[in-house]
Amino acid sequence: TSTAAAELLSGVNAKVLLDSVDAFLFDCDGVIWKGDKLIDGIPETLEMLRSKGKKLVFVTNNSTKSRIQYANKFRTLGLSVSQDEIFSSSFAAAMYLKVNQFPPQKKVYVIGGEGIVQELQLAGFTALGGPEDGEKRAQWKSNCLFEHDKEVGAVVVGLDPDINYYKLQYGTLCIRENPGCLFIATNRDSVGHMTDLQEWPGAGCMVGAICASTEREPVVVGKPSTFMMEFLLQKFNLSTSRMCMVGDRLDTDILFGQNAGCKTLLVLSGVTTKSILDDPSNKIQPDYYTNKVSDILGLLGE
Ligand code: PLP
Ligand code: CA
Repeated sequence: TSTAAAELLSGVNAKVLLDSVDAFLFDCDGVIWKGDKLIDGIPETLEMLRSKGKKLVFVTNNSTKSRIQYANKFRTLGLSVSQDEIFSSSFAAAMYLKVNQFPPQKKVYVIGGEGIVQELQLAGFTALGGPEDGEKRAQWKSNCLFEHDKEVGAVVVGLDPDINYYKLQYGTLCIRENPGCLFIATNRDSVGHMTDLQEWPGAGCMVGAICASTEREPVVVGKPSTFMMEFLLQKFNLSTSRMCMVGDRLDTDILFGQNAGCKTLLVLSGVTTKSILDDPSNKIQPDYYTNKVSDILGLLGE
């Protein structure tokens, strides 16, 4: 982790940054969009970077959508981004199981949204729970056991707007009664933007609930963990010394870039303010910061 204070992006260092980088990894919420609203100047900025031959990759911790659903979201916002350029924590959860040779005859219990279920199914796994258990009520009666499928070999937890006591009991039993059961968290973000107006509790609170009941810690596959980075580096054959991670969160995005040895650019268009960045308690300093991604256009005189 770098300790030197972040440099404000200027005409001079923006040019240096562009010349020293072949690929930009963009966080999505707070950088590209806020909830369902595109942030100012994004289409033009992405177009400029593509015209200079830069590789663009989009990495989001929000597990509620699959890559197919994100490709649709980009299209709806007028951005042309292909599924191959998108790395969501929902996809990362499925790829983690794939890479670790999770047996396809075993099942995965999901405390999370449709995005995780879709990615697991696309990767050939059987997913239980998720939205399907959204309306269920936990019932407890004497002499009556809560039943769970003993074939479950992994529990994946992400943001779940329909979390309930039934799902908590189901996931808890899968993990507590089977010491070999994997416990995977898509991400541990404290808050996220459900809309552009407000922050809401993030997946961290659902993950925290299962940590407490199981007394286990999860494998996190989203930012800042290195899993997605290693996966995409291999896929695109990129070198981290010529990459820049652009994000709005210090403890996920900037740390994710720094852990891998990428250059890092913090934008103040999301959850981090200049006073959070400058606070003496903050130990994470990006290489550069600026208000929003499209500032690069003005700084380069494009
Ligand atoms: N998780 C949820 C549920 C969110 O709503 C958000 C942002 O809106 C995030 C995670 C963070 O997403 P990103 O990594 O794109 O900033
Ligand atoms: Ca973000």
